[in-house]
Amino acid sequence: MRDKQKLETILAHHGEERGAYHGAVVPPIFQNSLFTFENWESIDAAFDDRMENYIYSRGKNPTVNVVEKKIAKMAGGEKAQLFPSGMAAISASCLHFLEPNDHVIAIKNLYGPASKFLKKYLSKKMNVETTFVSGERIEDFENAIQDNTKLIYLESPSSVVFSLQDINAVAQLAKKRGIKTIIDNTWATPIFQKPLEMGIDLEIHSCSKYFGGHSDLIGGVVIGKEKDLNEIFLNEYEMMGFKTAPMEAWLLMRSLRTLPMRLERHESNALAVANFLETHPKIANVTYPGLPSFPQYELGQKQMSGYGGLLAFQLKTTELAKIKLFFNSLEVFQKGVGWGGHESLVYVPAISYLKELDEEQFTGLGISTSNIRISVGLEHKDDLINDLEECLKLI
Ligand SMILES: *Cc1c(COP(=O)(O)O)cnc(C)c1O
Repeated sequence: MRDKQKLETILAHHGEERGAYHGAVVPPIFQNSLFTFENWESIDAAFDDRMENYIYSRGKNPTVNVVEKKIAKMAGGEKAQLFPSGMAAISASCLHFLEPNDHVIAIKNLYGPASKFLKKYLSKKMNVETTFVSGERIEDFENAIQDNTKLIYLESPSSVVFSLQDINAVAQLAKKRGIKTIIDNTWATPIFQKPLEMGIDLEIHSCSKYFGGHSDLIGGVVIGKEKDLNEIFLNEYEMMGFKTAPMEAWLLMRSLRTLPMRLERHESNALAVANFLETHPKIANVTYPGLPSFPQYELGQKQMSGYGGLLAFQLKTTELAKIKLFFNSLEVFQKGVGWGGHESLVYVPAISYLKELDEEQFTGLGISTSNIRISVGLEHKDDLINDLEECLKLI
């Protein structure tokens, strides 16, 4: 492999050993639970070097491994570990860094289940307390540090309101105070944001969003230094049994080859839709880090090289019947919770959030029932804008 190859080339070829699979241009799905050996000596040698040998598919599997190599290289990390879901990657990474009675600082607009894992599960099982901060100012983190703070957990842009944290500043602060850092980089992907280069210890992605990109797989990945990743492999992955299916890894490999091109289109479509919405008289505001009107636009420009397709907007109306009419009348935008796939989706966070939070906690997130989230897909932008325009006429 030539050094310093660009992203598209890395995703097309890196990590593939075609000679080992009869020259097949696409690596096979190694759908086997175990690997056989010639004799005692070769099994013995494989166990002596467990990080490099295929023994049993709860551990290393060649199809999974090819994808891990591509993702590690793309993100600028030493090593990557695939997980069967984004949440598995998140819980495994937190468990890797934490011990009973430790303290965590996390941002308040965290992905819901990740927040629940910290707030409800780790506090109960390990007496790990989490302080949730807005995270828009570096002092938010500085002021929350305690003697037992072991981890700062970021998500930038965050869920729901897409607020940003100054990743480099937080990483430097954490290093100075001996605190580990994790970032959920699902929104931006390594194409648009490289947190490992800014000093973050572990970068996590849900592969169920842009990495997969076709709404046909669930997966997760953790990327970072070899030492951390080897421990995560032996403990949280292999021992706790968070195994990735070779078939899912193979689908992911197929998807990654087009990730840079897909994101370019998601971004240009999202900008077109955001610009349309921002000037529409029935829209109160649009939240998209790629718009100059975004409150932290400058920080975004500093640490991101592009923006994806996920955005939110607020209808001027607060009448539930009108909000529902708008939502239900959309035809191109499909109604569903995910995002990052080829298809455009619309969702109203209030639908599920209000089942878990009371009214005050919900408004504390900085949104209301009029807040509509859309994932702008790969359809033609004119059809997306037309769909929104027609439905806005109804309310
Ligand atoms: C979807 C999502 C996750 C969880 O990923 P799963 O693959 O669904 O487990 C984590 N973080 C963010 C920001 C997400 O959007």
